[in-house]
Amino acid sequence: MLMTAMGLVIAERNYGENDKFIDVLTAEYGVIEICVKGARKILGKSNSSTQLFAYAKFCFSKRNDRYYLNSSELVRVFYGIRLDIKKLALAEYFAEIVRYCVTTGQTAKDIMSLLLNSLHFLSEDLRTCEFIKSVFEMRFMSETGLLPQLIGCRDCYKYEADEMYFMVDLCCLLCGEHFERRDFEENYYHIRVSKTVLHTLRFICLAEMKRIFNFHIGETALEQLNEITEKYIISRLNRNFKALEFYKQVCDRNDLMAAEEKS
Ligand SMILES: [Zn+2]
Repeated sequence: MLMTAMGLVIAERNYGENDKFIDVLTAEYGVIEICVKGARKILGKSNSSTQLFAYAKFCFSKRNDRYYLNSSELVRVFYGIRLDIKKLALAEYFAEIVRYCVTTGQTAKDIMSLLLNSLHFLSEDLRTCEFIKSVFEMRFMSETGLLPQLIGCRDCYKYEADEMYFMVDLCCLLCGEHFERRDFEENYYHIRVSKTVLHTLRFICLAEMKRIFNFHIGETALEQLNEITEKYIISRLNRNFKALEFYKQVCDRNDLMAAEEKS
């Protein structure tokens, strides 16, 4: 039986002398592994459409519980990502999260929009890497049903207070007063959030998908936002991501080079 779906390649693995496997994110079937026969032998049309981060129309068939590529038609390559190691590292981190969380057979329409939008903003330089990273991390968690309780303080429902704390491990907010009166262990990870960061967190989680990148934020607030979204995703998914470690190494190296250039 032939099946057709729009998909984004989020991983590729060589297999044997000429073949390869690709992991493709689709709205209808979640992440599926497709075998591309002769992928490394021919320099045909299906070659560019089966590369990492190619967005294409895939036509494939299922035999013995495996998917085989029949044909593919390239729709978009995110060139800007391939030309910049920091962007590529970040995109690979997004792909690793998706592969870890999205299974075969699950529908993934919103996650697909989120990833495609993030790659578009990254590729076209429309926002900084740090900005896109935070938006992706937080919205991804919200799309997978792991949205933190952001309405107000857990204990008194106060929407806004002079002091607000984001409790990473408890997935909730506490106002200053209830933070002081807390009855849980001291070592729970918490971050005091500014009003800007709190509004931004709510916006990322709740705004319409097509608007989630439409906000402005200062550098200090963005740093705090990044700390929160990264700690939150790692705490909820309870694992570290290899691609995130690599992304951080690239950032450190870039910072070092920038500092050397200045001196
Ligand atoms: Zn309270």
